[in-house]
Amino acid sequence: MDKTQPKKRTVVGQWKALQSSVIDCRQCSRLFEHTRRVAKEKRKAYLDQEYWGRPVPDFGRPNVSLLVIGLAPGAHGANRTGRMFTGDRSGDWLYRALCRSGFANQPTSENREDGLCLVNCSITNVCRCAPPLNKPTGEELLNCRPFLLETIRLARPQVLLALGGLAWKAILNLESSLEWMKIPRPKPTFSHGDRVQLSAGSRGRVPRWLFGSYHPSQQNTFTGRLTEPMFDKVFSDINNTISVSPGGRANKNQVSE
Ligand code: SF4
Repeated sequence: MDKTQPKKRTVVGQWKALQSSVIDCRQCSRLFEHTRRVAKEKRKAYLDQEYWGRPVPDFGRPNVSLLVIGLAPGAHGANRTGRMFTGDRSGDWLYRALCRSGFANQPTSENREDGLCLVNCSITNVCRCAPPLNKPTGEELLNCRPFLLETIRLARPQVLLALGGLAWKAILNLESSLEWMKIPRPKPTFSHGDRVQLSAGSRGRVPRWLFGSYHPSQQNTFTGRLTEPMFDKVFSDINNTISVSPGGRANKNQVSE
């Protein structure tokens, strides 16, 4: 072996490097200032807590069957706790559903030391910094796109689950950057419970799918637009898709903190 050659990073090494780059990113000054301001002012209920107040890294590990893709961290949820969908009502809904469907070891998610592990699943957002009014600008989404691409490249999911129309659109917009992605024309529009095949299974490769679900935001869950049975059905369909594919459940029992 030539010891003068720099060592090639493992996939796990690349995943860790990606998370460090996310945490250190300061590209969107509006979002950086907002996350710092929220972290300083805090919500009354969390005055004794140290907010994360930075870009939030992915939760999970590379090489999983399911990648859940949301919009952006909650100001007093992930922006406080530093872990995707952790510490707010949206997260309560998501992790209960993930646990019921076998993708998480427990239904609760409070902080980074609460013992929660994902099973064959990772979670990301199209925008890694909490935006004012939960609305990232087009430019901010574009700035964050390379992180989304790298997460998908390393996670190698068989199923991508878009939580909401913005995540759905952001995923389909990656077609020109992911050589395996071939989207039917006209481009499918977002609808809760729908799924679209993104790549055909050939030469030992499993087909990849995009699933859509309403985001478990309070706006959707309080109004009954998204109910728990509706959410469970999406994960049940995802489980069925993974289980019928060759090797689909091969790494089902691997967990990540
Ligand atoms: S939104 Fe993304 S690109 Fe913008 S500062 Fe946060 S991590 Fe960086």
